[in-house]
Amino acid sequence: MSNSSDGLSTKTACRRSLIKLAYFLSLIIVLLGLACGRKNDNPSIKLDQVGYPVDAPKIALVSVPAQAFVVKRASDNATVFQGDLGTGITDANSGDTVEAADFSPLQQPGTYYLEVPGQGRSWTFSIGPEVFARTYYLAMRAFYGQRCGTAVDLGPEFPGYTHAACHLEGRFHASSGKQGRRDNVGGWHDAGDYGRYMVNSGIATGTLLWAWEMFGSKLRDNKLNIPESGNGTPDILNEARWNLEWMLKMQDDDGGAWHKQTSDRFCHFVMPEDDRLSSEVIGTGKPPYKSTCATADLAAVAAIAARVYQPYDKSFAAKNLRAAQEAWAWALRYPDATFVKNPPGISTGEYGDADCGDEQMWAAAELWRTTGKPEYHRYFLDHYAKYLPTLRALDTDTWRVVAPMGLWAYALATRPDADSHALADVRGATLAAAHEVVERTRSNPYHVSLAASDFQWGSNGLVGNYGMELLIANLLSPDRTLVETALDNLHYLLGRNTFSISWVTQVGEHPFRHPHHRPSGAGKNLEPWPGLLSGGPNAGRQDPILKALPADLPPAKVYSDEQGSYASNEICINWQAMLVFLLAGVMK
Ligand SMILES: [Zn+2]
Repeated sequence: MSNSSDGLSTKTACRRSLIKLAYFLSLIIVLLGLACGRKNDNPSIKLDQVGYPVDAPKIALVSVPAQAFVVKRASDNATVFQGDLGTGITDANSGDTVEAADFSPLQQPGTYYLEVPGQGRSWTFSIGPEVFARTYYLAMRAFYGQRCGTAVDLGPEFPGYTHAACHLEGRFHASSGKQGRRDNVGGWHDAGDYGRYMVNSGIATGTLLWAWEMFGSKLRDNKLNIPESGNGTPDILNEARWNLEWMLKMQDDDGGAWHKQTSDRFCHFVMPEDDRLSSEVIGTGKPPYKSTCATADLAAVAAIAARVYQPYDKSFAAKNLRAAQEAWAWALRYPDATFVKNPPGISTGEYGDADCGDEQMWAAAELWRTTGKPEYHRYFLDHYAKYLPTLRALDTDTWRVVAPMGLWAYALATRPDADSHALADVRGATLAAAHEVVERTRSNPYHVSLAASDFQWGSNGLVGNYGMELLIANLLSPDRTLVETALDNLHYLLGRNTFSISWVTQVGEHPFRHPHHRPSGAGKNLEPWPGLLSGGPNAGRQDPILKALPADLPPAKVYSDEQGSYASNEICINWQAMLVFLLAGVMK
């Protein structure tokens, strides 16, 4: 039992401890402030916070009036380069006036920062031969974090980034034409929500398999530390297979594929294992219930899979080829079974598409590329020409407009039976479009390929898709400017933008931090799940946060790093795949 005197002395000691603690905490805050001040005191100096390849152009942008700049080594603050800033150019898309700081001659690998005398310094960045390897690793591993139907653990590198197995049960919704249980365990959570959607899976998985087909020699040894690592199959293919297996489960016995598997509405911001809403296979609501776009996308992706898994798992490759051919036949039989609007009672992502002709053309090109069968070739030749204009105006809805994939599949096939006229058409249109993009990017003060009208939902995904177009054009007809322009787009995503922000979580010194992503919002971690690409600026303003921004903001500024801004700050597997493709393409 304590007396009053003991109580008093206890209180005094306690108060002293509190004073000491407060002093200690304020010291830490001051030190942190100093440290932060040393890191970057002027976001007007914009550069790629990851860095620049040794032999590539190296340009930072400064949006505050100044004359000169220096580059300093981070370890000892020694000046290693000095130069004059270029003339200020006003960027209509952001309203910023920016001057270029060109330090391309600096080729010594290391970690640096850029300083503008009198104005402050930038975030640190690296110059090195494998400067993007870590970003690729994190961007690719972000797909592992999206895995549904299994426990996920990012391991000691990211302690606390875990979720338990989720969505282990499912059933047919009435719109599917069937009833009862259908679990379809697996796949990736599509975005910030926990739905799984066939058409977005199509473009995302197809893009990753292409990254392997085109740049596999660079990716072969890149271990992703996923459960399958070390099984003899390259990890990018291990990860893509996780979603591919789910896509195959969405195919009905007659060859058609249902549109999506989601709950009837979005769940609250909870971890995936805490989402108790029923997971349902959702169809078009009328015979034949499956949809042409989903089925043709499955045909295209499974046809690619039949090629790329052949050296690693012959029976899996054969299974994919069978699935692709059956899906193809179904889509031919039902070319107009479109999913345009959600069935009554369903409010998850629609991914509606009234025209599946481009999905069928992509499937034809991939099946011909894999098998050489004349029926697929004939279909492609009969249909490709009307889609050539899509190459000149890439759409932010890459999941809906897959015509470029079909055209590029044909151009990249290198089959001896290719039609020379068709090949010339597709190659010519691709190269013309890509060089137009180069010119537009050169004249853009931020050196990004986005046109003013491109700042729509998923504009950052489109930045990746421009990169993809440029890199594919480079494969068709090698030209250094194409690769350098693809790099320009990557620099924009990693910090050389109006916000001086890296749009990939936990990448760079100043990444965005509040994605519309349930595991990031619901978990106990201070920082979001790593490696995720934000959707980016969106002048469409489809969420309340963007609507509340000043009415006269230029399009490139319509962005908010807030969880609630689903129209500018969600993450999504198709944008993520474009980022991976871009990184894979520019890596050494
Ligand atoms: Zn899940």
